Amino acid sequence: MSESTEHSGQKFVYDFTEGNRDLKDLLGGKGANLAEMTNLRLPVPPGFTITTEACRVYLDSGSEPPALRDEVSAHLDALERHMGKKLGQADDPLLVSVRSGAKFSMPGMMDTVLNIGLSDASVAGLAQQAGDERFAWDSYRRLVQMFGKTVLGVDGELFEEALDEAKAAKGVTDDTDLDAGDLRALVKAFKGIVTERTGREFPQDPREQMDLAVRAVFDSWNGDRARLYRRQERIPGDLGTAVNICSMVFGNLGPDSGTGVAFTRDPASGQQGVYGDYLQNAQGEDVVAGIRNTVPLADLETIDKASYDRLMEIMETLENHYKDLCDIEFTIERGRLWMLQTRVGKRTAGAAFRIATQLVDQGLIDEAEALKRVNGAQLAQLMFPRFDENATVELLGRGIAASPGAAVGKAVFDSYTAVKWSRSGERVILIRRETNPDDLDGMIAAEGILTSRGGKTSHAAVVARGMGKTCVCGAEDLDVDTKRRRMTVGGTVVEEGDVVSVDGSTGKVYLGEVPVVPSPVVEYFEGRMHAGADDADELVVAVHRMMAYADRVRRLRVRANADNAEDALRARRFGAQGIGLCRTEHMFLGERREMVERLILADTDEERTTALEQLLPLQRQDFVELFEAMDGLPVTVRLLDPPLHEFLPDITELSVRVALAEAREDHNENDLRLLQAVHRLHEQNPMLGLRGVRLGLVIPGLFTMQVRAIAEAAAARKNAKGDPRAEIMIPLVGTVQELEIVRDEAEQVMAEVAAATGVALRLALGTMIELPRAALTAGQIAEAAEFFSFGTNDLTQTVWGFSRDDVEASFFTAYLEKGIFGVSPFETIDRDGVGALVRSAAAAGRATRPDLKLGVCGEHGGDPESVHFFHGVGLDYVSCSPFRIPVARLEAGRAAVLSRHGADSGR
Ligand code: ADP
Ligand code: MG
Ligand code: MG
Repeated sequence: MSESTEHSGQKFVYDFTEGNRDLKDLLGGKGANLAEMTNLRLPVPPGFTITTEACRVYLDSGSEPPALRDEVSAHLDALERHMGKKLGQADDPLLVSVRSGAKFSMPGMMDTVLNIGLSDASVAGLAQQAGDERFAWDSYRRLVQMFGKTVLGVDGELFEEALDEAKAAKGVTDDTDLDAGDLRALVKAFKGIVTERTGREFPQDPREQMDLAVRAVFDSWNGDRARLYRRQERIPGDLGTAVNICSMVFGNLGPDSGTGVAFTRDPASGQQGVYGDYLQNAQGEDVVAGIRNTVPLADLETIDKASYDRLMEIMETLENHYKDLCDIEFTIERGRLWMLQTRVGKRTAGAAFRIATQLVDQGLIDEAEALKRVNGAQLAQLMFPRFDENATVELLGRGIAASPGAAVGKAVFDSYTAVKWSRSGERVILIRRETNPDDLDGMIAAEGILTSRGGKTSHAAVVARGMGKTCVCGAEDLDVDTKRRRMTVGGTVVEEGDVVSVDGSTGKVYLGEVPVVPSPVVEYFEGRMHAGADDADELVVAVHRMMAYADRVRRLRVRANADNAEDALRARRFGAQGIGLCRTEHMFLGERREMVERLILADTDEERTTALEQLLPLQRQDFVELFEAMDGLPVTVRLLDPPLHEFLPDITELSVRVALAEAREDHNENDLRLLQAVHRLHEQNPMLGLRGVRLGLVIPGLFTMQVRAIAEAAAARKNAKGDPRAEIMIPLVGTVQELEIVRDEAEQVMAEVAAATGVALRLALGTMIELPRAALTAGQIAEAAEFFSFGTNDLTQTVWGFSRDDVEASFFTAYLEKGIFGVSPFETIDRDGVGALVRSAAAAGRATRPDLKLGVCGEHGGDPESVHFFHGVGLDYVSCSPFRIPVARLEAGRAAVLSRHGADSGR
């Protein structure tokens, strides 16, 4: 090798025997695993890999590194010597495949080209050697077709059409029914297409074929689809791809040959067994392309027992070696088995948990490793109600699983009907070609959303995920006709009002009502199903074990966002270690609204005091119940946050009412005053208006009433021998002065309550950090706060200058499609912006007050990636909705394990 690397000292080509699975950065995933299998002495057709480094040089400089050509020649020579024939040699050609393979497998990279080396000259030699003329011409036509399409950029349809014509002319349907003569004619037709479309002949020089294909792989790194995918997945744009040159083996040599794919265990259930598909007399992607019907892998045992046994043996070797489920691609050439690819395989959420615990039991991995093999997104999926597997269903079609859940309802094709029907108590599924901001009301009203166009970042998908609503998008088989209020799928017509069922976890759409069953995992968290029971569900046991392990290793505590005893109790069952956010605004709604109105309308101190005194006992009772439900655990109560107008009647409705009354000359004094108040409080931009601590400072007595209710409730619980742990949280603070004023008043009230009840109270007082200014002055704010809770929803809004409701529905789709961010910053914390503020505020706060308690209570608290970030910046806890608690617990455990192992939780 030394002669080819002496110029730069860099080695651009690795034989399969030289690499290993840890070299994914350099050799790409496919190349690294081909090398690993080669080293395991598995039957891999010999070959070599051109490194990502060579690709990077090409991408930077616009041409291949000068040393590459000779290095490839050296490796090709070695390969030719090993195989005993030369690339494209006329009487007995060596053929190769050229396969892309980056570190992360990604869409948009060049498709593999098989049979490189075949030409007008060598096709006869191949026929001679194989003793099969048909095979040789079949291989050649595949080469011209694949090369024409992927390397030369000819529209693939043209070849498909020519192939269809050839079959039609012969009156057959399968490509295997074409004989050598037909295929020879087809090659001629294909070559004609190439010449016509590219203005040049199909290249006959084998090395030129290979070099062109390699360059095409390099170029495909910067294809539109690949770039977009990378931007969305935050895969760096400068990694480059490797190229694998692999000597051909042939599955299309007759019935004793074939090609297949397999999993070492069932990717759906995790069960060990024989899972895969096999297709006789076929090459490459035929097996997954659906051109002919495949047979289950188990049938291979009868077709070719020896190959089957060898395959089973190899699968076991791979599992033991990778210590995980692997998927593989293989080919059988005249009774001889060849391995063409392996990698750690994708799996369903349930299988991930089962496989992780199975591997622990088999002694292949330890619990820490098992924890890395599952994740919160999978757990969340397992917690959605699901369609009954035993139900008889009629599958209508399938789209992209955009937002999980199982939704059933009557089909409606416009927003207006969705809203109208749902108001009268119907459950509806909103079906559109695609949605836009005008559909928002309908989306809110619907149980689920179904579109025939658009991907994971389409408007429907983004908004549905934001709302936690079931959504399947891009179900292209559905022909949605909104004008005629119906959709057609194949021969089936679904009219408005027909019931459909939509599975947002699988993307499947059914006709009729599929019964929904609760998730066994939720039954387990609710305590209605026990992991220790004899008949315990295997999945439940696996989840239980992983949760127990996560709880043992995690450092982050997990609290719940809950406002009432019922939610608090559920949160506790789900493992909450306290309440991180109790919003008090819900305590001002319903029949209490009138009291709030009176408070707002009060002209005199006396009226105001009366209103507050009416609210006090009600609030106190709310807190007594909450503290009882959370006995012994911290409960952070946030004082009133939203702007007051939210508690008043709608401005239009009220105006109409007043106008009508005036027309009748029936003046209602109260309504008039209310209307004035509504006008007075009306804000252009309520998000940035009179809310949070600003309210507390402007409406005398409001916050002190709330503090009193909390303190008295705590005292009452203490008297009842309870263990209340209330914490008082001030929202929307921007400067320490605001906090100081509120704190002084609160301390006075607490002292009064202590004196009056004789119960010693020590309630912690802290603040939310949800404004950039608060984050930037966190060092000062910590002087007056015993804890910070990062309100990352508002912080995201204010840091980005986004009003969430407005932006998600209007332009987020465009932003996601342009790759400005890969995921909405309201779903996953924006590490570089919002996250940076959290990090610096946490540090500044702790610098002032080393024992400052730090938590987060935005929705990010239940988002897996964000949890890892919060672990990393050293927060004490995350707080999330009760239903997300298990996810947060699991991810907090994973964050602990992953950071311990110095790995990144990235993707
Ligand atoms: P992908 O990344 O899309 O899986 P692959 O490079 O694995 O692409 O190749 C596509 C198909 O061609 C697969 O079925 C693979 O097994 C087959 N294939 C690739 N190289 C060879 C080869 N040298 N001999 C036979 N089949 C091959
Ligand atoms: Mg492919
Ligand atoms: Mg493959």
